[in-house]
Amino acid sequence: MSAVKVTRTEQVGLIRVDAPPVNAISQAVRQGLWDAFQAVSADPEVAVVVLICAGRTFMAGADASELGKPPVPPHLNDLVLFIESCPKPVVAAIHGQALGGGLEIALACSHRIATADARLGLPEVNLGFVPGAGGTQRLPRLIGVEPALEMAVEGKPVSAQKALESGLINAIADDLEPDALSFATTLAGVDPTLFKLNRPIGPDSFDPDVFDQWRAMCAKRKRGLDAPLAVINAVQAATGSDFQAGLDAERALSLELRKSPQSTALRHIFFAERATHKVEGLDLSQAAEINSVAVIGAGTMGAGIAQVFASQNIPVTLVEISDEAAQAGIERVRSNLEQAVKRGKLDCAHAEVILAKVTPTTDYQDLAQSDLVIEAAVEDMAIKKKIFEKLDQVCHPTAILATNTSYLDIDEIASATARPDRVAGLHFFSPAQIMKLVEVIRTDRTAPEVTATLAAVMKKLGKIGVIAGVCHGFIGNRMYQAYQREAGLLMLECGSPETVDAALRRFGMAMGPFQVLDLSGIDIGYLMRKSLPDGTVHPNAFQVHDQLVEMGRKGRKTQAGFYRYDGGNATLDEDVRSLIQSVAEKAGIARRMLSDHEIAERCIHALHQEGANILREGIAEKPGDIDVVFVNGYGFPRYKGGPMHHSSG
Ligand code: NAD
Repeated sequence: MSAVKVTRTEQVGLIRVDAPPVNAISQAVRQGLWDAFQAVSADPEVAVVVLICAGRTFMAGADASELGKPPVPPHLNDLVLFIESCPKPVVAAIHGQALGGGLEIALACSHRIATADARLGLPEVNLGFVPGAGGTQRLPRLIGVEPALEMAVEGKPVSAQKALESGLINAIADDLEPDALSFATTLAGVDPTLFKLNRPIGPDSFDPDVFDQWRAMCAKRKRGLDAPLAVINAVQAATGSDFQAGLDAERALSLELRKSPQSTALRHIFFAERATHKVEGLDLSQAAEINSVAVIGAGTMGAGIAQVFASQNIPVTLVEISDEAAQAGIERVRSNLEQAVKRGKLDCAHAEVILAKVTPTTDYQDLAQSDLVIEAAVEDMAIKKKIFEKLDQVCHPTAILATNTSYLDIDEIASATARPDRVAGLHFFSPAQIMKLVEVIRTDRTAPEVTATLAAVMKKLGKIGVIAGVCHGFIGNRMYQAYQREAGLLMLECGSPETVDAALRRFGMAMGPFQVLDLSGIDIGYLMRKSLPDGTVHPNAFQVHDQLVEMGRKGRKTQAGFYRYDGGNATLDEDVRSLIQSVAEKAGIARRMLSDHEIAERCIHALHQEGANILREGIAEKPGDIDVVFVNGYGFPRYKGGPMHHSSG
């Protein structure tokens, strides 16, 4: 079946792309469009053309399977020029998404209309490259330089309403095909060259400093990324007097970046995030419905988890040890929601609806009808086992019992119940209402449909669920422990947490390892290490950490940890320097200078080694899953693809 068909209704030639599932612009679609535009251009009966797509979306971008391979003609940039040269007006009729090449094709048309729920954008920057078929040249000519920078540098699609306001589309359609046909009819006889987006951009229409302002923004918010800067250069090239020179500059930037290590890494992580459900034994079609949820413990994690489900309209029962603690939990949810309202992520009325979905209680009998219970009480095996024993008694037999434990053995927790096949881990990251990553942990006894249900629910909540097996710390915390161990040893060698933090930030980590410890509390690791059998913790790596906790320096919450905090300022004080020196001397570790390169290499090597162990033991099924965990949960630079990808390159 041909991917592109042409029909005619009176004087309107209708070109329909039908390449399921998302009308990706494959070679077959490009060739089909070329032939179709040739046919309508030559047909004397056709006065105007409508370009529309079948299925759930307009052309949603390039064909992923062609990325990274040698391009096959007709090339998209040639096709776009060919469509633009059509001697008749062309209306792009957009539904679903017009992204990347899809939007570039729409920009080559003389007019555009879209359904109210359509989204339009140039997301190439997220995959590390620049649009290569005129997107950065035509968009600023149509909607202005600043709005075009916003769309192409941020890579976020805009709604049809916003597209209408900016002039990106001519109208919003109620019923796309008939509306497009009647709109097209009004254009019969109109000269399409009047709408070509190739005229010079008036120098008075934009602030000449705008490009440097965007570069300064990127230096702060998009540190280390090449593509946003290249996109700015491409849009700036559109402000020159020669349209073709701008197209050539964009094309050169696009081709160069497509081959870059950053783009390879970004594409790797993009596909890895979409492949986390492709693991042995997981079949999402086995997933059961989850209509009600209970969360045990309304602290930092419990309140956040409750909010996540309530935001998806799933009622949540929030269980605490006392009425006061339950009320404090509700207040925590309220405060999180208020922050979301302040940041413009939510309106007040919706926040109230979400809050009303959460019911506090101290009575476990209230959980009798819950389909899923997530325990987020304190990290203590005895307490968790007691809770699971109780849950097993009160919950209906098919209810799933999950724990948010960071380190504890889920097999042992499950042994407190008579239904170990319905027990699993759901390891949310903090803050749960913001972080997208969740490790879905299956024990050897977890039933496949339980894992499938949890994975499907995470997907529904908009989370990235990575499937993991049981071990101390699962994928993320186990590897982070190895990374912290190496960072601890490096600190003893060079004498300063600051040197190590700065090197890893320069590598691209969102924060240095000691900054992270100060933020989350050094005491968490301290308590965890105390619970481990003798001989399992490195004898030197965490000595400074433990002594700091014993000195009452637990991190930011006590105004002092590795650093001393005074308002927003963090400084390294003499007490910590001399503590490091004395621990290093006792351990026989000689002081030496370390380069940024050595610090980063050793820490990332430690991650990679532990990752390799995790794969060998089957805790994670594929390297991409580990990369997804590190990029989404631990501030590993996305443009380096994750520790496994980075070390394999
Ligand atoms: P928290 O101390 O903020 O909250 C724990 C809450 O559980 C308290 O409000 C406490 O009153 C309540 N609680 C204790 N025993 C209970 C019981 N028997 N029944 C009902 N409620 C009970 O702790 P947190 O940071 O939210 O951590 C909770 C769990 O999540 C721990 O297992 C922790 O390891 C894990 N976790 C924490 C983080 C994090 O960054 N904080 C991240 C991932 C996982």
